[in-house]
Amino acid sequence: MTTVGFIGLGIMGGPMAANLVKAGFDVVGYNRSPEKTAKLVAQGGRAAASVAEAVRGADVVITMLPDSPDVQAVALGEDGILANAREGLLYLDMSTIRPDTARAVAEAGRARGVRVLDAPVSGGEQGAIEGSLSIMVGGEAADFEAARPVLAAMGSTIVHVGPAGAGQTVKAANQLIVAGTLELIAEALVFLEAHGVDTEAAVKVLAGGLAGSRILERKATGMIARRFQPGFRVELHHKDLGIVTAAAREAGVAIPLGAVVAQLMGALKAQGYGDLDHSALLKLVEQLSGRNAG
Ligand code: NAD
Repeated sequence: MTTVGFIGLGIMGGPMAANLVKAGFDVVGYNRSPEKTAKLVAQGGRAAASVAEAVRGADVVITMLPDSPDVQAVALGEDGILANAREGLLYLDMSTIRPDTARAVAEAGRARGVRVLDAPVSGGEQGAIEGSLSIMVGGEAADFEAARPVLAAMGSTIVHVGPAGAGQTVKAANQLIVAGTLELIAEALVFLEAHGVDTEAAVKVLAGGLAGSRILERKATGMIARRFQPGFRVELHHKDLGIVTAAAREAGVAIPLGAVVAQLMGALKAQGYGDLDHSALLKLVEQLSGRNAG
């Protein structure tokens, strides 16, 4: 039986770890706030009291943490993953972090005989619960093949996109598309409401045409109802747009719309909405339009 150490049992990591249990893996979970580990135990997993405990005895280790500094600390820290890894360990970081950090972690892993893949995901909380995530993987092809059975328990579209860091670069592009699309949906909804149009009916017909998208299908109803519980937190998308703008600048690529959306997401966070779902971009459009401000 393959033992998987799973670190970071939040909105995404919790259901992903539960799906690994369902698929028959021996899952040892660790989270900074322990009540989330208790939930995994109730679902058939085991609890670890530290990163070291989750890593010792594991064949595969997965992290699903908020940001680059969290992954750096947990992977490279004094009593972290690499310090406790056995030779040949397969380590998959599934968080969304900076591509250069992913490359640095992969290099540090290689120096210690640990096989590292960056494997960020798309599909949201719903995809994590359903086990239908899209997983974009950077790293060695042989390591990708070794990780495939584990990834298949969490996702349905699993693609090796290139060397270390490439998964994170693809994820950055994903976040650019999602943020831009959400902003346009927010603008369209406020626009339709201002004209007194039945937005439910409008979304139904829009979803069937060229403007249709999974984002429209999954998010518009909640936005119309002003339901903004996350989902995907504004704070995390703000972090991701920082990654996108930095990586675009590094490559000398202009992303004018992306830059505007990054500013809007930052403004939403600055107004105290960091813990709302990213579809709360609609609140900002309302404020800018002098409608239901606040
Ligand atoms: P979250 O904040 O719900 O979960 C993160 C978890 O990590 C929390 O439970 C937190 O307690 C734990 N944690 C933080 N630091 C830790 C540490 N040092 N040791 C152990 N545990 C620690 O976030 P999330 O929404 O699950 O997102 C996780 C990652 O996945 C982020 O990088 C995010 O950008 C990405 N992501 C999220 C979504 C989504 O829809 N929520 C979709 C795709 C990708």
